[in-house]
Parts: sequence; C-alpha cells; structure tokens
Amino acid sequence: MTTLAEEISDLAVRAGAPEADLTILAEGNAAVLDAANDRFLVKASGVVMGEATAEDWVWVSLSKSVEILESAHKSGRTPALDSALDAILKSAVTPSGVTKKASIETLVHVVAFHLLESSWSLHTHPTPVVALAASKDAAAHYSGTVFPDESVICGPIPLYLPYDEPGLSLGLGFYSGALKYREQYGMSPRQIILGNHGLCTFGNGKEEALATTQIAVKAARVRLGALTAGGINFIPNSAAQTIAFRPDEVARRKLLTGDSK
Ligand SMILES: [Zn+2]
Repeated sequence: MTTLAEEISDLAVRAGAPEADLTILAEGNAAVLDAANDRFLVKASGVVMGEATAEDWVWVSLSKSVEILESAHKSGRTPALDSALDAILKSAVTPSGVTKKASIETLVHVVAFHLLESSWSLHTHPTPVVALAASKDAAAHYSGTVFPDESVICGPIPLYLPYDEPGLSLGLGFYSGALKYREQYGMSPRQIILGNHGLCTFGNGKEEALATTQIAVKAARVRLGALTAGGINFIPNSAAQTIAFRPDEVARRKLLTGDSK
C-alpha cells in the first residue's frame, strides 16, 4: 500500500519538474490531511519539491495550528503567537520519527484543511502567475476568469490577496481573505493568488490540486497574452458562475481532475 508520504512525494516531484516551471530550488510546498488523526503532512523546510521523498515530509497537529490561527485572527499577531508557531513548526516529525522543521508557509495549508473543505493543498510559484501577481494592477487582472475551463476547474472568481510576509502574517492574511470570500460568495475559493508571491490550489485528491494549478497557470498565460493584445476581456461574472455550477460541468470537473470523491 502506498503511504500518504509516498503519494505526496509523487505530487511534489510532478509539480517540481523543471519543465512544469512551477517551482525552483526549495520554492513551493504541499500538504495532505490525515483527518482521523487530527494531523497533516507538510513539506519540511528547505526541501526541493522535484526531489522530495517520503522522509522529506513532517507531521503537524491540525488543531494546534488552527488554535494559533484563530487566536491571531481574534486578537492580532503577537510575539507570543509567533513563538508558538515556531515551536509547532520545529517539533514536527517525519514518518519515521526524525524531527525536522516544517515549512514556514504551513499555515496556508491549515486554512485549506480547516476552512476550505480540502484534504490536499498545493502551493507553487509559477512564473506567469507571479508575473501577474507582481504587476501594478494584479487585483484587477484577477477580478474574473478568462475561459470556461478556468471557471469550472479554478472556480468562477479567483481570490487575490496582497503581499504578506511568510509566517504568521501570511497565514493570517490568507485566513481572513478566505473567510471574507466565503461570506461574500457562499463558497470556497479554488485558486488563491498571493501578491508578489504565488499560487495556491486545493482538492480532495492530489490530481485535483495539481490539475487546478495547471489550469490556473494556463489562465495566467492567457491573461498575459490578452494584456499584450490590448487588455483582458473577462467572461461576464454571471456566465462564469453559471458554467461553474452546471451539473454536467461539475461532473466533468471530477473526470478532468481524476478524483471520483
Ligand atoms: Zn511560497
């Protein structure tokens, strides 16, 4: 039987392949939830995605991480919460029990598991997405979707978040942004663009998380092409919502992403 650590290594190796242009060196990370045991596996700090093996992943407590996130959301970031987060990251252990520090971006995945009904979470730095996310009008470039499969696979409305420092600030901004989005639209975002930073996608299987990233990267290239051709013409928002929730498209999304759950 394949272990979760082996499965997530497979995802990381595919996402980290040089030709995918999603990450370079130790950029990006991924995580997978083990709900029955209130824990998740996340990439250890400094590991190269494309070379990840089972011992490059560490277990972290979900409820302890959520506690930090919720305290910060309620009363703001404090040095005590920074230290508590650091302690959790430093006490993480690999599948065979070796202590290794978890990624500084771990809280992004905590939000995916706690708030976005996902069990797989992928965070990368694809060049075309970062180009748009580093542009002056980044938020405007992500105010809609640009072709039907983007609406179906990545959701009808992207969530763009301004730059935050990796660590508790990034986690807090991500949590607040996702909460606000859910209040506003009554659904979870399926692609989250981090200003001057990268992309986050989710799924209930690794194929769904990866396919959503691949479509999001294509959609970023389309935006860049449209900008050089005079400007982006988004699919009207109501049409994007309609196609994203049509039963045949929902069924097709499941087929496309290779997950039957
Ligand atoms: Zn990152």
